[in-house]
Amino acid sequence: MDIRQLVDSIEQTEVVRLCQELIRIVSVNPPGDEIRIAEYVGRILSKAGLEVEIIHHSPARASLLAVLKSSQQIPPLLYSAHFDTVPLGVEKWSHEPFDAVISEGRIWGRGAADMKGGMAALIVAAMELARSGLPLRGDLILALTAGEEVDSLGATAIASRTELGPAQAVVIPEPSDNDVYIAEKGALWLELSTHGKTAHGAMPELGDNAVLMMVDLITELQKLQIPFKEHPMLGGFSMSVNTIQGGMKTNVVPDGCVVTVDMRTVPGQSHEAILVRIKEMIAALSRRNTAFRASVKVTNDRPPVETSPKEVAVRLFVGIVEEVLGERPTPKGVRYYTDATALVPAFKAPMIICGPGDPKLAHQPNENIVIEKLVQAVKIYTLTAGRFLI
Ligand SMILES: [Zn+2]
Repeated sequence: MDIRQLVDSIEQTEVVRLCQELIRIVSVNPPGDEIRIAEYVGRILSKAGLEVEIIHHSPARASLLAVLKSSQQIPPLLYSAHFDTVPLGVEKWSHEPFDAVISEGRIWGRGAADMKGGMAALIVAAMELARSGLPLRGDLILALTAGEEVDSLGATAIASRTELGPAQAVVIPEPSDNDVYIAEKGALWLELSTHGKTAHGAMPELGDNAVLMMVDLITELQKLQIPFKEHPMLGGFSMSVNTIQGGMKTNVVPDGCVVTVDMRTVPGQSHEAILVRIKEMIAALSRRNTAFRASVKVTNDRPPVETSPKEVAVRLFVGIVEEVLGERPTPKGVRYYTDATALVPAFKAPMIICGPGDPKLAHQPNENIVIEKLVQAVKIYTLTAGRFLI
């Protein structure tokens, strides 16, 4: 049997059942509690012949590395999916969110699209390949992570395992409707605080008003020119001041005010250079007003990631997707960030995001996955592993 025959023999039963099982093992983050799903997946992959290692982060949280061993003549291929899902929200679902009901050709449940469906497809692809006995020249590595939805806990731990790389490509099944994304924006989240002095509200001249300092700071921030070059797949840099807190009582001059700012960066921008600009801005404000005091803290720092559409791995992958779907995708970019921000620099590999979920359903009520797309994804990942590694 060759890889094409193996792909043609793939049916829906196994991936549907596994996707349902994964949805039924609740792994909502926070708190995550990924240990149960990690142990479950570890058992089935180990039974299929992969070498499995559970990476414990805490008693309730774990990630998993599984390797389908080869003769190691060529670099490995890395498949990565996350165990955790976002919480449910308040809206009532049409099907119970952890029952994984099948209806209208779809499986319904939290994580169906983002990304237990994609994860089930990766796992079945790895098991198909393992059972086929086709000899591999490079390892297939599955990096299944905890904490993607909050802080990339698992991906950060796996990124430190540099002995596993460099890889030929990092493939991540974030929901894309089986379309191909090869660039994502970076994120730089800042917490800006102003520091004043309290006084009685009837004697404001005795205090230093931190809320008024923040007014000046935000005004300057809005005027700040952060340089960037428009990216063909991602567009431009964006900045949004999204929370503000300050003061405690109407009759007390506030001594503290805090805003949080969400910046989304594009390739070519340096997060360090942006921070320098912000600090210079604060220094200039202090020179203008000696009472002005402010500080900046970074709360999230993820670099933008991009792969050239001309990259061999991307061209090969696009051809495989075309072979399975009958339509050639044009690689695009996404604005959100994924575990790729940790894994791609660590494994020095091109990034490919392609998953069976509908991106519009991620983090939404009534999340579901179309079974036909799920099966297409298994075929894409099996064929990709075969073409990259045999
Ligand atoms: Zn996701």
